Amino acid sequence: MTNHLVSNRFVPIALAVVSSCLLTYCGAINLFPVSEDQRLGAQFDKEIKADTKQYPPYANATAKQYVQSIVDRIVKSPDVKYRGTFPYHVELIKDDGMINAFCTPGGYIYVYTGLLKAIDNEATLAGVLGHEIAHAERRHSTNRMTTQYGIQTMMDIALGKSADQNLQLAANAFTGLGLLQNSRSDEEEADDYSFKYLRSTQWFPGGILFFFDKVKGRGGSSIERLLSTHPLPQDRIDETNARLKKANVPPPTEAQLNTRAYTDFKRSL
Ligand SMILES: [Zn+2]
Repeated sequence: MTNHLVSNRFVPIALAVVSSCLLTYCGAINLFPVSEDQRLGAQFDKEIKADTKQYPPYANATAKQYVQSIVDRIVKSPDVKYRGTFPYHVELIKDDGMINAFCTPGGYIYVYTGLLKAIDNEATLAGVLGHEIAHAERRHSTNRMTTQYGIQTMMDIALGKSADQNLQLAANAFTGLGLLQNSRSDEEEADDYSFKYLRSTQWFPGGILFFFDKVKGRGGSSIERLLSTHPLPQDRIDETNARLKKANVPPPTEAQLNTRAYTDFKRSL
């Protein structure tokens, strides 16, 4: 990804974004075009699929289709912007010790069998998937890359002042899954969007709370690894509860949890 950043096609986009942000409030500034999220995602997807030792594929077409069908329903939410642009394609990884899922920039979703087996209902899975979709939708990786490079560096690139070696150093900091390490604020935003997306579905919008319950107080290396990509301070639990309260969401019904269907699914794994 090193030379890509200094390609001619990138420069006008960087300039355009910077100039429009000077005039209007932009919120989190992301100087990367959406195509960069797509390119990074496709690259990660390729690397992950090639590394079958670290990411052994779980060859169960029915299970994959089941998880994919939940994703397909979530991305129909009116709050999902990049439906049709990002693939939102699911792959399952066979690792029962990993209670985790992740999403690359550009929307390639990976779910560990450890997560599928640890949770008890469909709403939990939908909550986690909504959260992962939000990381791609909110473009958290390229936002962080923008912050890391710094606006000045981006301007230097645009103006042709930056030395390639410096860029190379910065780019190296983002190789591998380091890019997927989310900040606390990214986590909170992803929880918030998971809630928003799920409100347009049949599932209880606070589904991710059940996931928090599962990992809270659990030890072991798989949880440590999970927390390295998804920090879980008490605030996230409190904020999800506050969101439910503010929206006057009643306690979930069985129809919103789909525990029975999920139990059958788990037996098939
Ligand atoms: Zn996350």
